[in-house]
Amino acid sequence: MRGKGGKDMKASKVKIIGKKKIKDLLREASQEWNVYVPQKWSDGDVWMDQLPKDKQMLDEALEDVVLEDVDTVISPKDIFFPQLESIFKFKDDKIWETPEFSPKLIFGVQPCDLKGILFSDDFYRRNFEDRYYVSRIQNRLIVARGCLRPPRPTCFCSSAKTGPFAEDGFDLQLVDFGDSYFVEVGTREGEEFITMHKKFFSEPDGNYDMTIKEIKTKACDSLELKVDFQNALSLMAQDSFIPEENYRRIGERCIYCGGCLYVCPTCTCFNVFDNVKDKEGERVRNWDACVFEGYTRETSGHNPRKDKWLRTARRYEHKLKFDYKVTGLSGCIACGRCLSSCPVGIGISKFIQEITEKRKIM
Ligand code: SF4
Ligand code: SF4
Repeated sequence: MRGKGGKDMKASKVKIIGKKKIKDLLREASQEWNVYVPQKWSDGDVWMDQLPKDKQMLDEALEDVVLEDVDTVISPKDIFFPQLESIFKFKDDKIWETPEFSPKLIFGVQPCDLKGILFSDDFYRRNFEDRYYVSRIQNRLIVARGCLRPPRPTCFCSSAKTGPFAEDGFDLQLVDFGDSYFVEVGTREGEEFITMHKKFFSEPDGNYDMTIKEIKTKACDSLELKVDFQNALSLMAQDSFIPEENYRRIGERCIYCGGCLYVCPTCTCFNVFDNVKDKEGERVRNWDACVFEGYTRETSGHNPRKDKWLRTARRYEHKLKFDYKVTGLSGCIACGRCLSSCPVGIGISKFIQEITEKRKIM
């Protein structure tokens, strides 16, 4: 399985690639892979999407590739967990599943989002194997791209140790160095990719280890928002640490638009529904969210989380308590998107500041 073995492997080898060669590399790679890369769209927003296969469309799309420290508004989680996904179809008494197995090259993913992908990988295989998710990750290669500067003022990855460079979990990682990238090799699959496309890569000169270390240290220093993340996890682990009034206050302020949940790389809630006409149709799943009143409402009408504050509590405790307790992985990877997307200024970094600094911030 490509890309799976990266979790435990530290970068051991380094190559170099000129930035001008990236487009040609992506063009060549798209013959074998479905290539996902950050692209600038007509409204100016940047997010990761698949490059087209058609030659002319591919050439045009390559002009819009953005490998810079910009805010990718939405996370890349929908590559493996689409917003709307047909999971099986049926007609009369026949049912057939529709898993998706295409080879995927995820190129230029930010390190926090890489952690989000690894979190989702674990979630969808933890207590049961979600075959629709797992089919999508079967054949993938992940090329991370470390951030020299935080793409959002709300980023706090250095506090959570989820960035600005990945330490593991990638097949390859790009380290921006002026006109070139150092390419850290994390897995055998990453090494094979370089061998397949060796005309684009060369050996670095001189004391590159020291240069890479300096780049990473400077990048880490550029993060202005610092929170006491580890302390927050320890405090949240205590029973009933957060007074109900805090959750009530935040819950009253939240307008339950769902913005923070849809942009969050680690939100994994979904619902399913059937599209049926006569005896034919499909079962579809779509993103849902724990803060919505209907998410836990049962068929009888009973809702165990009827009150807003209970749903607010669920969100924060899921992110900072339950996942960490079960897996040792925090359900927040510190991307800062929840705060940057919230119309009323609620965000998990502020919540962490509230509980660790013992003052009212939201
Ligand atoms: S909770 Fe907020 S900061 Fe944490 S991963 Fe989700 S969107 Fe990012
Ligand atoms: S974005 Fe803000 S207002 Fe909307 S659901 Fe999230 S916390 Fe509530």
